[in-house]
Amino acid sequence: MKVASGKTAHALLLKYNLRIKKRFGQNFLIDENIIKKIVRQGNLNSEETVVEIGPGLGAMTQHLGVQAGKVICLELDRDLIPVLKETLAEYNGIEIKQGDALSTDFDFLVNELKGSFPYKVIANLPYYITTPLIMHFLESGFNISKMVLMVQKEVAQRMAAKPNTSDYGALTVAVQFYCQCNIAFYVPPSVFLPKPAVESAVVELIPLDKHKVSVEDEKLFFQVVRAAFNKRRKTLVNALANSPMAFDKALVSGILSGMQVNEKIRGEALSIEQFAHIAKEIKEAGKGYEF
Ligand code: SAM
Repeated sequence: MKVASGKTAHALLLKYNLRIKKRFGQNFLIDENIIKKIVRQGNLNSEETVVEIGPGLGAMTQHLGVQAGKVICLELDRDLIPVLKETLAEYNGIEIKQGDALSTDFDFLVNELKGSFPYKVIANLPYYITTPLIMHFLESGFNISKMVLMVQKEVAQRMAAKPNTSDYGALTVAVQFYCQCNIAFYVPPSVFLPKPAVESAVVELIPLDKHKVSVEDEKLFFQVVRAAFNKRRKTLVNALANSPMAFDKALVSGILSGMQVNEKIRGEALSIEQFAHIAKEIKEAGKGYEF
């Protein structure tokens, strides 16, 4: 039974006496063409392992099952597990797990279920936890070769943004520090059940072999980045001085002039390399201090 249609989705929900749970960000894909397009973007082969977060009723999982060697899908909603067991019964190599993606060690899970490395992650993400989930993937350094993720359009635009635009922010720097990021295509609300209030986009993230810039102290680097964008209407010097870290104004001004950058610059105009340089200089100046 193909799950990707409004009619089948309704029939399954009725059969299992389920309601769609907004609190779990449930918007099920009911358009076969969009699903095929997302799966194509994954460029899977029959040797590969793919992890799907939030399989829902299994509409995309069925397609992943045909393309990949092994599919590990992790669903938070316990009520959907019996549905998935039915809709995925005829597909080989699919492992259904119940759990919370936010607290899952995916390398451990793939290893436990005898998947292969590196693996891919393909998901129509629950939008209420998009950013923490993406950060979980980036910061954990999992052995992933590629991620294809459906996210809210605005989030996609922030992830792929360039400096000096209103979308450029802490999320941009974090994503582009770890990955090459591009927006593959946009997706209208009409392909979901229920229709979300927002437009969506599919982004492709390819983890970089080496981080975009070499940073000695990642924690300090991200403290500087967060401080810069927390007060994005202030100059960088003031934003950093007014942050919980209270970076010294004269120090930051001095670093900027050493970089031949206007002292009145705002964080949104700085490249990732420039942020890294500022963090490095702050670290140098503060040797002996605990940041
Ligand atoms: N993949 C399905 C599809 O495209 O039709 C469903 C996508 S729906 C946007 C998001 C799915 O993620 C839901 O099935 C929801 O229950 C599940 N989910 C929500 N929070 C989760 C979490 N923390 N960990 C794992 N799955 C989660």
